[in-house]
Amino acid sequence: MESRTTVDGWWQRLGFALLPSRCLLCRGAGKRRRDLCAACETDLRPNATACACCGEPLALAQDWCGRCLKRRPAFQSTWAPLLYAPPLSGLLTRFKFAGDLAAGRVLAELALDHWHRQAPARPEALLPVPLHVDRLCERGYNQALELARPLARGSGITLLPDALRRERATPAQSGLSALARRRNLKGAFRVRDGIVLPAHVALVDDVMTTGATAQECALALRRAGVGRVDIWAIARAPSRN
Ligand SMILES: [Zn+2]
Ligand SMILES: [Zn+2]
Repeated sequence: MESRTTVDGWWQRLGFALLPSRCLLCRGAGKRRRDLCAACETDLRPNATACACCGEPLALAQDWCGRCLKRRPAFQSTWAPLLYAPPLSGLLTRFKFAGDLAAGRVLAELALDHWHRQAPARPEALLPVPLHVDRLCERGYNQALELARPLARGSGITLLPDALRRERATPAQSGLSALARRRNLKGAFRVRDGIVLPAHVALVDDVMTTGATAQECALALRRAGVGRVDIWAIARAPSRN
């Protein structure tokens, strides 16, 4: 068993060294062994002026958006370095709905690059937004966990992959208004019994849209005694309310 693992590892490394990287977006040559080229990477739009609390893209730099000022969310801050827009949205769709794990790897590498550059406040643990077990069986992987794992490895922050559970299977969120999303998710998440969580955690997701999922997860974590919850997502979509 051990030798097989070693051979697999060796074979994988060899394949990695021999195969040229190809840009997943334009099929051009990849940059530094990454399946993304320099030109396509510059097409990714940064979420440069955003609400410090919910990450909502704003036209002008200001600390908090009107919505967060009016009603403070259960989470404290959002780190979402890129805007959910083409061509990034295409990569995210391929990763999430088409089983394209190469797209997932590129997204995780991008997230880690931005993490190193921007150094968001350091939590004591990373928790992926959980999928319901039915959805997990259907898809075969949790996209949030696939992003959280390399972020944890690259940052040295503890990963707690199973601390939060999705109790209810909820209908797909896309196409729902913010209000409908909130109703849809009420009480959907719970901290697993017997888990002791640190005082400061970051919840990892692929995309943050209205913040309804983030809010429900943060509420469950705060109820379980967590003092501070931050949201980490690779991309932020402007919410439509
Ligand atoms: Zn390209
Ligand atoms: Zn906000």
